[in-house]
Amino acid sequence: MSDVDFHEYATACDHCDWVNVISPMRAGDQLHCARCGHTIITLHPNAASQLLSNGCSAALMFIMSLCFVFLGFSSSGTSQQITLLDCIYSLMGEHYISLGIIVTLTLLVLPIVYLTAVILIALAMRKGRIRRSYYGLLHTLSALQPWLMVDVFLLGGLVALVKLHSLADIQLGLSFWAFCAFTILLVRTASFVDKRWIWYRLCGPAPEVAVRQASALSQGLKGCQYCGALVPEQKHKCQRCHHVLHHRKKGSLGNTLALLMAACALYVPANLFPIMITTFLGRSEPSTIMGGVILLWGLKSYLVAMVILVASILVPVAKILALFWLCWQTRFHSAGLLQQKQTQRIYQMTEFVGRWSMVDVFVVAILSALVQLGAVMNIIPGVAAISFAAVVILTMLAAMSFDSRLLWDKSEEITI
Ligand SMILES: [Zn+2]
Ligand SMILES: [Zn+2]
Repeated sequence: MSDVDFHEYATACDHCDWVNVISPMRAGDQLHCARCGHTIITLHPNAASQLLSNGCSAALMFIMSLCFVFLGFSSSGTSQQITLLDCIYSLMGEHYISLGIIVTLTLLVLPIVYLTAVILIALAMRKGRIRRSYYGLLHTLSALQPWLMVDVFLLGGLVALVKLHSLADIQLGLSFWAFCAFTILLVRTASFVDKRWIWYRLCGPAPEVAVRQASALSQGLKGCQYCGALVPEQKHKCQRCHHVLHHRKKGSLGNTLALLMAACALYVPANLFPIMITTFLGRSEPSTIMGGVILLWGLKSYLVAMVILVASILVPVAKILALFWLCWQTRFHSAGLLQQKQTQRIYQMTEFVGRWSMVDVFVVAILSALVQLGAVMNIIPGVAAISFAAVVILTMLAAMSFDSRLLWDKSEEITI
């Protein structure tokens, strides 16, 4: 089956539940939802070979980035060099286990699992169809994608360099450049992962169902969020990918609100307590998130100060407020199509920007691994680092548990 051999089939939009019919497509074509404008499917030219070549290159760069020195640092005659694995060891060794686990997962475990799945799937595409045992790998790709944060970690590394620049000489190791290449290649690999195209390519079209131009719910159908198949509502599992199906995410509003409340509660200590404690010649200086922004501003690092201000202060607050507002809209309000599209865009934005707030946590992890110069200077994470990481993770989970299709259900109730 070639990349362009894509026959007509119906699928429900993941964001608004509208049934769209995918007509035969050519390489380079993209289909957007007729109701909300969300991208339904993108057919990249040579996607199968691109997936394999980019996935393998990313894996090679990843291995290289683990083998050499990542960053070097020298001040007052003493020096320190770290590898990426040192970042993890030092956090674990200094008993910052929870922070160590977060860095291990985002830097090591998830990229390895994701790239292994991509390469195995790309190899399977060369043979044709896949065995049932590969279905788990395909589900894994969709589930892991939002949690890949190597690009955020790289931004954290750059911010850490700016923070240290005024205090010491910095050397960029070979691993740093390999990690930059790995980040670009991983982001590029992920851009070729389109679940509808992959499932179609490996398992063929989903069983046909009669459809009309309306939401899947209104015509007694369920849209599978994993493979894009349309399934009659009496079916408990997707007929193509065998994933358990629900009309809407179970307990969506309640779960989203509970996660948001927890994020609000942790946001207070995350800002009140120090995120990082710097000891210089025996004098300890704790700094909060806002204190770090003011310090960077004072050092004339305006761009980095703005990055931290936006990522660590403005984005989490805006995301929490936006999700509360979306919950309220879902429960009590109904709007016209135009306003509904704007609401949808706000939701997409909250999903997209949330993980970038993790940048300050990675800055602290890198600095506390790198700056361990005994009595001269050392940096350790403060209690706010873990509270803030929890805020970011909880708001990401809240955005994921929110089912944006409920927003459109509310408007249908009124218009029908
Ligand atoms: Zn849509
Ligand atoms: Zn499915």
